[in-house]
Amino acid sequence: MGASPLQNCAHDPQIASRQRPGHPTRGQPARTVHLIVAIANQKGGVGKTTTAVNLAAALAMRRRNVLLIDLDPQANSSISFLDHTAIGRSTYDAIADANTSLRDIILPASLPNLSIAPAKIGLAKLEARLVGEMDAHFRLKDKIDQLQGEFAHIVIDCPPALGLLTVNALVASTHLLIPIQSSYFALEGTDDLLETIEKVRQRPNPSLRILGVVITMHDKRTALARDIREQIQKVFGSKVFRTVITKSVRLEESPAYKESIFTFAPDSTGATDYYSLCEEVIERAEARTA
Ligand code: ATP
Ligand code: MG
Repeated sequence: MGASPLQNCAHDPQIASRQRPGHPTRGQPARTVHLIVAIANQKGGVGKTTTAVNLAAALAMRRRNVLLIDLDPQANSSISFLDHTAIGRSTYDAIADANTSLRDIILPASLPNLSIAPAKIGLAKLEARLVGEMDAHFRLKDKIDQLQGEFAHIVIDCPPALGLLTVNALVASTHLLIPIQSSYFALEGTDDLLETIEKVRQRPNPSLRILGVVITMHDKRTALARDIREQIQKVFGSKVFRTVITKSVRLEESPAYKESIFTFAPDSTGATDYYSLCEEVIERAEARTA
């Protein structure tokens, strides 16, 4: 891999420094940083949805209004909190139809302070619908702007592709978080992702910041997992979050019960890992705005 945008800022001293010693405790309100964070990696099954769902829940536990936007036609993050039958209009309508706002589609999750802009399988037709539209890449951003800061934080779950939906997310976001699965082919495809990020930064969203890379489904008992972690660290340097998400059956089970890990298994390693990732996310975002 050549001089990638991530490598260029991998040793950003602002990110590396701990500007605010001590960690906020559970339940404290977040400080002033306003996050719109896209969770993206075009590789499938790397933990994007699991990260989006549990990061959104962790942010909501800090007593701030949080919106989870599902941009994946598979609708996995929507059905992690909602019943299929409860979903009427979806992100397809909000993006394709000028007269539908995000407010028209948003539903409350069972967790306080958390709302969902749900997806449906029909979202897969969006690309065809927006062919030739001059503002195709800006649709989501425009709809988020209409919310006028109603939500302190917005988390966007992206599909496993680098098409129009992911680009809409990158154009609308202040930050990007990349989950990378602790697996033999972990880094496959990251060049394409970084190229897309760079294109978005060159024109439509120069202020998009790469918050970091989180290693998911890590099994620290195996030598292979340790090698993979080293390899990811070599490529992404200090962009890699200190928090590593370990492999946990509880994390796999919680969507079936329509719960985040924090209510489903609050004492599990999954809950500890995602809580600590949330703290690091806030810390890094604040370090960049300070
Ligand atoms: P897609 O690209 O299809 O949208 P994704 O990147 O969103 O996938 P997830 O759906 O979050 O990935 O995770 C893929 C599978 O791995 C799911 O079955 C999920 O429950 C499981 N999984 C995610 N994280 C973990 C973990 N830390 N431990 C165990 N299983 C996990
Ligand atoms: Mg997913």
